[in-house]
Amino acid sequence: MNKSPKYRPSTIAVHAGVQEDPNAKAVGTPIYQSSTFYLTDAVYDAMRRGLVRDEYIYTRYGNPTQRAAAEKIATLEGAESALVFSSGMAAISSTLLAFLKPGDHLVCGADLYGGTYSFIIQKLIPLGVEVTYFDTEDADSAKHALKPNTRIVYFETLTNPLLKVPDVQALADVAHQAGALALVDSTFATPINQQPLSWGVDLVIHSGTKYLNGHGDLICGAVAGSRAHTDLIWKNLLLYGGCLDPTASHYLERGLKTLALRLERQNANALALAVWLEKHPRVEQVFYPFLESNPRREVARKYLKGGSGMVTFRVQGGDENALKLLQHLRLFRVASSLGGIESLVSLPMNTSHVQFTADERARLGILPGTIRLSVGIEDVDDLRLELENALSRI
Ligand code: PLP
Repeated sequence: MNKSPKYRPSTIAVHAGVQEDPNAKAVGTPIYQSSTFYLTDAVYDAMRRGLVRDEYIYTRYGNPTQRAAAEKIATLEGAESALVFSSGMAAISSTLLAFLKPGDHLVCGADLYGGTYSFIIQKLIPLGVEVTYFDTEDADSAKHALKPNTRIVYFETLTNPLLKVPDVQALADVAHQAGALALVDSTFATPINQQPLSWGVDLVIHSGTKYLNGHGDLICGAVAGSRAHTDLIWKNLLLYGGCLDPTASHYLERGLKTLALRLERQNANALALAVWLEKHPRVEQVFYPFLESNPRREVARKYLKGGSGMVTFRVQGGDENALKLLQHLRLFRVASSLGGIESLVSLPMNTSHVQFTADERARLGILPGTIRLSVGIEDVDDLRLELENALSRI
């Protein structure tokens, strides 16, 4: 399927990226479970010219099953090119290290996935990269953070766990005015709810482990953007070795086929639960982009087609009651990932934000009693009844 814009996301999700199988003429892309490929004259020629990204030589360099998943993601993001990785962290580290060297400055949204935060602290700063954080929802604060050596403005397009909505276009402009790149982690937003490249962002990263695969049975990552930028990142994919195994690539591509369908249900389920939770007497606050009470809902309307399946709320009685509530949930499994078809629940204070002090969490807006839901595709009435029952017991 070509990258014609006439196709809409549901169609792209099913058809884009399929690699032709000239021998058996399979409709789907076969799993090319081979570490290596025959060395042909074309391959030797490409190697001589240093143009091996498009050839199949060795699976760390590229494989048709990886390519099927990568092209589907590229088409969904409206990107020229994409790469798949063995994890979201492999995608993040390989991408940041492709554009940063000692003495460079990185400007980051303050609301970051914990692993990204640790990578910055434990790897980038010791490497000699300067880092300044900005208020994710205040593009002016990113502007004030710029320095002559700023190379990247990095943020998450929908943040964990409070679902903050940054002004993507303004932040991309801030980056470009400084001659820097705008890079985003769009794991929570997904290409169904937002296409950051259309707002001027240069590269979009995903933990494919979450919504892209969507079935909670795979660890993978991806980055999408221009061919020139992804060529640079591809060199790190080779050197750091974070390639995605062909069978895992197949599962990712298969999962992606239902991305639009899953998100339609997850957006609807999560919105319904967020609206309902907000009226519950034991709930102090609910965080969801499209709630009428959300002061950022106009920004959300500009940038998001749906609010995702993530809902965060705070119960009365702090962490003690939050922990008690978890004991009364069955459909919502107590586990720390997100974005799959099954509903999950976790507390940021003892999972994603456990490395922060209570004060640091409070500064990010994560107060005691905060509970994060990843709402799946189950019947929303069953999910609501379960939450109602659990809330009545705290
Ligand atoms: N980015 C975000 C927003 C995440 O939530 C996660 C994992 O939870 C990652 C990146 C890292 O992805 P992975 O676990 O696939 O390495």
